[in-house]
Amino acid sequence: MTSRLPHFYDLAPEDRRRALVEQGGLPEDHLAALAQGLTLEQASRMIENVVGLYSLPYGIATNFLINDREVLVPMAVEEPSVVAGASKAARAVREGGGFAADADASLMIGQIQVLGVDDMTAAAEAVRRERQAIIAVANERDPVLVGLGGGARDVEVRPIADSPVGPMLVVHLICDVLDAMGANAVNTAVEAVSPLIERLTGGKTNLRIISNLADRRLARARARVKPDSLTIGSWEGPVVVRRIVEAYALAAVDPYRAATHNKGIMNGVDAVAIACGNDWRGLEAGAHAFAARDGVYRPLTRWWRGEDGDLVGEIEMPMAVGIIGGATRVHPLARLSLRLLGVNRARELAETLAAVGLCQNLAALWAMATEGIQRGHMELHARQVAISAGAEGDEIDRVARQMAEARQVRIDVAQGLLERLRAGGEPTERQC
Ligand code: NAD
Repeated sequence: MTSRLPHFYDLAPEDRRRALVEQGGLPEDHLAALAQGLTLEQASRMIENVVGLYSLPYGIATNFLINDREVLVPMAVEEPSVVAGASKAARAVREGGGFAADADASLMIGQIQVLGVDDMTAAAEAVRRERQAIIAVANERDPVLVGLGGGARDVEVRPIADSPVGPMLVVHLICDVLDAMGANAVNTAVEAVSPLIERLTGGKTNLRIISNLADRRLARARARVKPDSLTIGSWEGPVVVRRIVEAYALAAVDPYRAATHNKGIMNGVDAVAIACGNDWRGLEAGAHAFAARDGVYRPLTRWWRGEDGDLVGEIEMPMAVGIIGGATRVHPLARLSLRLLGVNRARELAETLAAVGLCQNLAALWAMATEGIQRGHMELHARQVAISAGAEGDEIDRVARQMAEARQVRIDVAQGLLERLRAGGEPTERQC
């Protein structure tokens, strides 16, 4: 099986599906999920008040080599250039040996907010003293998770001296959720222990909920890219390395840039998370809270020039993802995506997502530090604008091509071109 699928880009969607089976190792019967997608009946069991289905483009990023494993990466995303950018940057990284990735155990934090505590020191001490009893109560609720070797692991106490409603005690229940994202599992556990916490502290509990700042569940990836692999047009490799490091430096010191830098990372992470039926809002919340953990919002990646002149990058971020639970087994495309990725544990999915995030960041920095981000975007973006202007069938490509060639991709331009085209004339570049 290989993730190098030359000319995949040029194939028709049907032929791309064939390539997934013939070269990508996807079992033939999984293709049915691509044809069928989610049914209305399945959707009605997922959320409330269903009236229809909302589709997103589902594409495959090629060329990934992660921990010496060939990986085809499914992405559900509406934004042009994300899939192409990831494939292109993954190819440059594989020439330097691919991504090395690792992830922590699946430890999630559940929070219990305790109010009206008279003696904070005594209450905190009582919770610490009864740590084992609290863990035991939590674990009674999820024999499946405990039977598999997971469950509540630890209890921590955080007295908060001041808040808009006065002091409060916050109890953290640390749970190993194994192959799940863990929100339901943790929420059940914190609700179960809340009466015991009230007895121990003499206070009243209010919130009992998971924290999406999953900072005990970090995933990391690292990549080394040869300068030659980054040469693009007249931009020579060593110059590109320097300009990428310079571009990163702005994100390192400026939250305005860091926000966009991290958005580019999440373009990749979210696209794969959605394809795999995972909770991408949880990932977003965790990523941004982690990025601001020391009081200043910072980039989730770091790039530098290695001693040998190679470009070296690394990422570290919370990665609360699951391969069971939530929509992962309910949505047919989520099952297909997990099969395609070949991940058998949540930890492996987390490693893959970290590598994709780093890769997507490289793709954006590489484009911006050389020919600019718009060039790659132009063709697909122009098609979207043409469609928004009302173009149909082969009008879409004709209008889009004219706008892209003239580098004037705007709705008013598309409307003008479309009018002329329908009036009987082929639009010319001058008319843009
Ligand atoms: P879940 O409850 O569907 O599945 C987890 C359960 O599966 C475990 O409790 C365990 O009993 C069982 N299980 C079987 N095999 C397992 C294995 N190998 N590893 C782990 N568990 C195994 O799902 P979940 O992951 O607890 O919750 C995820 C869902 O919760 C998502 O849909 C998410 O959107 C939603 N959610 C999120 C938040 C939040 O992020 N703040 C809040 C509420 C709900």
